[in-house]
Amino acid sequence: MNSTKVRSILESLEEKQVTLIAVTKLHTVKEIQPLYDLGIRNFGENRVQELMEKVDHFPGVHWHLIGHLQRNKVKYIAPFISCIHSIDSEDLLQEINKQAERNNRVIDGLLQVHVAQEESKFGFPASTFLQQIREIDFQNYPHVRIRGIMGMASMVTDQDQIRSEFQQIKSLFETLKTEFPEHFNTVSMGMSGDYELAIQEGSTMVRLGSILF
Ligand SMILES: *Cc1c(COP(=O)(O)O)cnc(C)c1O
Repeated sequence: MNSTKVRSILESLEEKQVTLIAVTKLHTVKEIQPLYDLGIRNFGENRVQELMEKVDHFPGVHWHLIGHLQRNKVKYIAPFISCIHSIDSEDLLQEINKQAERNNRVIDGLLQVHVAQEESKFGFPASTFLQQIREIDFQNYPHVRIRGIMGMASMVTDQDQIRSEFQQIKSLFETLKTEFPEHFNTVSMGMSGDYELAIQEGSTMVRLGSILF
């Protein structure tokens, strides 16, 4: 870790009031320790198994599940997870609600929208996103607190395309914001390669991995 660089990223995010999720996937506990020592307390992982191997090493960390989540794995993380960024179906929402209730918890969640051109990415398709979200009766899921939306831009070099995808995510957020209660306040977008653009377009939470290590 280059601590000068990480410190300057932390400072700039703080100044802009953007929350940092340090994406620790593929890194060992030893590699992650310096980030913890700098005081970073929001960590993101995209696989349940890898997450479970790390939780006990970092007391006080808020863990974020940022990758695709299978329903049968929700039970493992429900006792402690802070926020699930990858809610991409009502079935998953229902399962998170059920497991949160079993643990007497309310778990924060983000609705994942798919705007990128790559087919492999998960999420509600942008074209039907609003319609599908409006069909869900969120009152049925009182143990999940929907805080906003999450999305990823395409893996391309064309900055205009990336910018327009971030604008699309932000605009979907703004539309839904008027329909959800006041805790709907989070736009999770931006990774190491594109987070500055994401912030310009209204991101409130960036998920940074490679740039921190
Ligand atoms: C890996 C990952 C990130 C971080 O990617 P970097 O390019 O390493 O910053 C962010 N979000 C998700 C969903 C990821 O899987």
